[in-house]
Amino acid sequence: MIAIMAARPPLLEVNLSSRREDIFPTLTQSQLARMRAFGRTRTVEAGEVLLDTADNHARSFIVLTGELDILRVCDGQEDIVTTTRPGQFTGELNLLMGRRGLVRIRAVQAGEVIEVDHDDLLALVQSDNELSEILLRAFILRRVELIAHGIGDVILLGSSHSAGTLRVQEFLTRNGHPHAYLDLERDAGVQTLLDRFHVGVADIPVLICRGELVLRNPTNRQIAECLGFNEAIDQTHVRDVVVIGAGPSGLAAAVYGASEGLDVLVLEADAPGGQAGSSSKIENYLGFPTGISGNELTSRAYTQAQKFGAQVLIAKGATALACERKPYAIEVDNGPRVPARTVVIATGAQYRKLAIDNLAQFEGAGIYYGATFVEAQLCRGEDAIVVGGGNSAGQAAVFLAQTARRVLMLIRAEGLADTMSRYLIRRIERTPTIELRTQSEIVALEGPGKHGDASARLERVRILDHQSGQVAPYDVKHVFVMTGAAPTTGWLNGCIVLDAKGFIKTGTDLTPEELTAAEWPLTRPPYLLETSLPGVFAVGDVRGGNMKRVASAVGEGSTAIAFVHKVLHE
Ligand SMILES: Cc1cc2nc3c(=O)[nH]c(=O)nc-3n(C[C@H](O)[C@H](O)[C@H](O)COP(=O)(O)OP(=O)(O)OC[C@H]3O[C@@H](n4cnc5c(N)ncnc54)[C@H](O)[C@@H]3O)c2cc1C
Repeated sequence: MIAIMAARPPLLEVNLSSRREDIFPTLTQSQLARMRAFGRTRTVEAGEVLLDTADNHARSFIVLTGELDILRVCDGQEDIVTTTRPGQFTGELNLLMGRRGLVRIRAVQAGEVIEVDHDDLLALVQSDNELSEILLRAFILRRVELIAHGIGDVILLGSSHSAGTLRVQEFLTRNGHPHAYLDLERDAGVQTLLDRFHVGVADIPVLICRGELVLRNPTNRQIAECLGFNEAIDQTHVRDVVVIGAGPSGLAAAVYGASEGLDVLVLEADAPGGQAGSSSKIENYLGFPTGISGNELTSRAYTQAQKFGAQVLIAKGATALACERKPYAIEVDNGPRVPARTVVIATGAQYRKLAIDNLAQFEGAGIYYGATFVEAQLCRGEDAIVVGGGNSAGQAAVFLAQTARRVLMLIRAEGLADTMSRYLIRRIERTPTIELRTQSEIVALEGPGKHGDASARLERVRILDHQSGQVAPYDVKHVFVMTGAAPTTGWLNGCIVLDAKGFIKTGTDLTPEELTAAEWPLTRPPYLLETSLPGVFAVGDVRGGNMKRVASAVGEGSTAIAFVHKVLHE
């Protein structure tokens, strides 16, 4: 039995800022006329449900007469999120991605609407500048409001001390998926919810997906499946280009490829953003003088890629490249092989780990590899250690010093000058709560719990001072390991020539002997960024000789597309 809580104010209007007109714009008559050309004008009955949460046929409705209620459905109960009036349109970012909506849409009274399908909407935003700006701004701002108000189809029940909770929070955040988070230790009522869904504290984190399905400590792939992230994407037809990895380089390839008319599919093993997504603030990327968080930069790129029609499979990693075939075929986690005329490998790099036996026990439960807003909140008022002397370590230390009581930086070298930018060194020197300890390293991690156990928690580390040879204990719950990264090339199974450190060799770096051994079949040499397999390119951090910066990743991702066109015409 459904109860509409109409007596309460609409959820999205409670705190709505002065940006109301940007979030819910009213289209002019001439804009409505252009919309009509992309959709179907139809009548609606009072009470008719035009779209439901289980409906995977994504579309937008533009109200001509009458009104549509946008409803959040939770546990059989409806709450009005907002009401769409004449001249206004429904939809938010999910619509751009062709995903199931987060809400139910019901006609308040009889009226007339223009119904626009996902494909027609993409055609519209790609061809009508003015409407594209209005629609995209509204979709993005609506998503921001939904996230800010925790309005979505997901409730996460977790604990800030659980590694699984942190992982799920990051996965949802990086996918920009709105969700409500309830912490076992802080929110009254969590126990009632757990009881209602018959789950125990040991199952934490628990994700209540679409108000009905209860997932206990789910993998990222299970979450993606439950939320239908990939269901609108066909994996079987041959694409012009398959991009592997959705970090800055892969997203750049997707934006340029799709905007130039190529059929682009991106495979991402986790969530979009790559290493850049875990950067608290990128200050050296052109055009952002006050800096931009890595997550913000890459989520904009993700939206941009989808605006041009690129499709992105989430939590679907490439596990092998069938290099003997043309078209190429890419094996993926739990799914059919993906065929491709050309391939752009953008799988980046993975953080180096500390060589300590029980490290895995504390990963996500005191040991972290990125310092974003989520981790900064965990350190509020407490001590943190940052290990590493590169720019990422410097950024993390300065960022964490804003919330942590004290940040200890540990480096094995004698100073930072050889490894860190001067501006960061100066900031560290001027931040009284950061202490730099040189020629030191962590040699032991201590705390209760076992690997995979939700109660595992870092409490203390032991630090070796190489000058004195002494090992001393240090009580700390948060250690950020920022010691560089190794290339993610293990999945290639020897299909492509790598350098001594495992990075992919491209272009003129490939010697004639290597090309002969790899049976390079063409009379022309490999193009810039092309690997030892014709039509397979490598860009960004995974490529030997890359600069390991966001700008070079983006530059290479976009440059590779110019050569993809050449290969497609060969
Ligand atoms: C904390 C931190 C701060 C940084 N700060 C800065 C900065 O301020 N300025 C700057 O210029 N640079 C910075 N960098 C470096 C910059 O982030 C990287 O150079 C850049 O992200 C590299 O982009 P990429 O796309 O090549 O690879 P990555 O960012 O590593 O992305 C690779 C993507 O591929 C996915 N993937 C891996 N394997 C597979 C597979 N088999 N199948 C499918 N997908 C796969 C990964 O999940 C990931 O999303 C920072 C890095 C870190 C870690």
